[in-house]
Amino acid sequence: MSLLPITLYGDKILRKKVSEVKQVDNEIIQLITDMFDTMRNAGGIGLAANQVGANKSIFVIDISNVEGYENSKPLILINPEIINYSKEKIIFEEGCLSIPDMRAEVERPESITISYYDSDLKEHTLTVKKLLARVMQHEYDHLKGKLFIDLIDSEIKIKMKEPLAKISKRDIAVEYPVSTSKDYQLVL
Ligand code: ZN
Repeated sequence: MSLLPITLYGDKILRKKVSEVKQVDNEIIQLITDMFDTMRNAGGIGLAANQVGANKSIFVIDISNVEGYENSKPLILINPEIINYSKEKIIFEEGCLSIPDMRAEVERPESITISYYDSDLKEHTLTVKKLLARVMQHEYDHLKGKLFIDLIDSEIKIKMKEPLAKISKRDIAVEYPVSTSKDYQLVL
């Protein structure tokens, strides 16, 4: 098992739009394996490549630890594109491994249609709702350099200012390995 450090709020790569994956070579397969290990070790249900410092359009999801979703299979999404958002929106509490110990209610479309490639570069299109749609939108945003805190009320965001500053200064205790500098990037 290889754990990668998780990038934190304030790290430059989290604000970057990542690059498309052109080819799934051994390095990409290793990255995906390490992303699953890193996500599970940190107790997460989704992880985007730039959260481990990799400039690649990939995210992984495993919601099988969530009550009611025990039969869900782990998913690898390469070069994902959300091609449709439902008009219906719902509010749901979100957190993020890159913004430890902070949660907020976020309004997003209830269901989405997403196209992506799997690790064999086979194309898939899925329409998902509720928790899976929520996790996918959160991870998809990461790949575009966006974070869930960008979507919350300015009033709540004001309250988050101080804890966010602490995270970015690494003035926090985190139970999983995290990046050590704002410029951290994984060399692939
Ligand atoms: Zn996140």
